[in-house]
Amino acid sequence: MKINHLPTFIILLLSLIACKDRQAKLEVNTLAPVEEPVVEQYGYVLDNYIVQRDTVQKGDSFGKILSDNHVDYPTIQSISDSVKDVFDTRRIQEGKPYVLLKAKDTTQAAQVFIYEKNRQDFVVVDFKEKPIAQEGSHPINYVEKEISGAISGNPSSTFEKLGVSVLVAYKMADIYAWTIDFYKLDEGDRFKVIYEEKYVNDTVYAGIGKIKATHFEHRGKEINTYRFEHDSLPSGYDYFEEDGNNLRRAFLKGPLKFNRISSRYNLKRRIKYYGYKIRPHKGTDYAGAVGTPILATADGTVTKSERRGGNGNYVKIRHNGTYETQYLHMQKRLAKVGDFVRQGDVIGTIGMTGNTGGPHVCYRFWKNGKQVDPYKQDLPASEPLTTELMPVFDSVMRPLRRQLEAISFPKEGEENIISELEETTPITQN
Ligand SMILES: [Zn+2]
Repeated sequence: MKINHLPTFIILLLSLIACKDRQAKLEVNTLAPVEEPVVEQYGYVLDNYIVQRDTVQKGDSFGKILSDNHVDYPTIQSISDSVKDVFDTRRIQEGKPYVLLKAKDTTQAAQVFIYEKNRQDFVVVDFKEKPIAQEGSHPINYVEKEISGAISGNPSSTFEKLGVSVLVAYKMADIYAWTIDFYKLDEGDRFKVIYEEKYVNDTVYAGIGKIKATHFEHRGKEINTYRFEHDSLPSGYDYFEEDGNNLRRAFLKGPLKFNRISSRYNLKRRIKYYGYKIRPHKGTDYAGAVGTPILATADGTVTKSERRGGNGNYVKIRHNGTYETQYLHMQKRLAKVGDFVRQGDVIGTIGMTGNTGGPHVCYRFWKNGKQVDPYKQDLPASEPLTTELMPVFDSVMRPLRRQLEAISFPKEGEENIISELEETTPITQN
């Protein structure tokens, strides 16, 4: 399950009561140290230039910015033409930061234009001699954090207060979706999480990274999960218990975030419109507003994505040798034949195409080529790890398990502590 399966009213109120400071385990592996006065950024020694940092203003264009900085129009035009494959100079957006490196001479003419596309990525347009554009990224550090606590109040506000993204809670709910009912958590349920936060240039927070391991205690059960990445997994990674079990079920309960069934699978359905003749309904209808995202209920490969007759716009997915699912009457199809989709991916939106009296998605479930009622099936659990993969998994899981065990729960009366920084793995700019 993905975060978007969580009803917005879910009030998983996590109180992070404390967590333990730990020593950094890994050396921070940064770029080679530079002498203090020499500041290098974007691949330039800034000291060699007049550095002008600014933001694209309303009415600004690449041409205007350069022209204001002593570059003539024919040159600007030739720069734009030469770099257009890497950077479309017409695309600069109001509000984005940019940097000009200008000659330290009497002309003070701009020589390099650096455009920050987002917090992480930038483009360097260098026209000192021959104009060249190159994309680059600021170094990103992944800082590992640990949190532990107990369910107690509002998670969003608690997370906010502690500076931990509420996405961490959502992702946890996602991981445990089939084993713990996050609508019915108990006061005092305890948890631990090891996860990463991303920082650009060491300082600018840029969201959460991977959730690496989790621990949850609910109604006397303790369930640990470990993230495991491997090429042979359909989506590249998944979460497993210590013994290699996968917590997910192979299928979601329905194709919408909020599943409201308007018409069930019924082979004996009689419809007034057809004179109360039997018109079997081999699908399950889920009502929703036009435009509501429709989710793939399981991992699989898209085998059909087309508009046809009474089906309207529809998508069909083959999940394995046994199961297929089909989603009808879409407004928009957002998956192509051949796409591999993961459980919970948005594959289209609710519409009224084809033969339908109102906006809904008709969800059809196929077993061995026959349409069946998914609610009468004993749906399979996701595949556990294979015996061949277990040793690889063990080598990833064991250190995480030790790390989880070492995280203590807050004692009564202990002050809230956000979390500690542990390690960073910089990715240097390309
Ligand atoms: Zn239907």
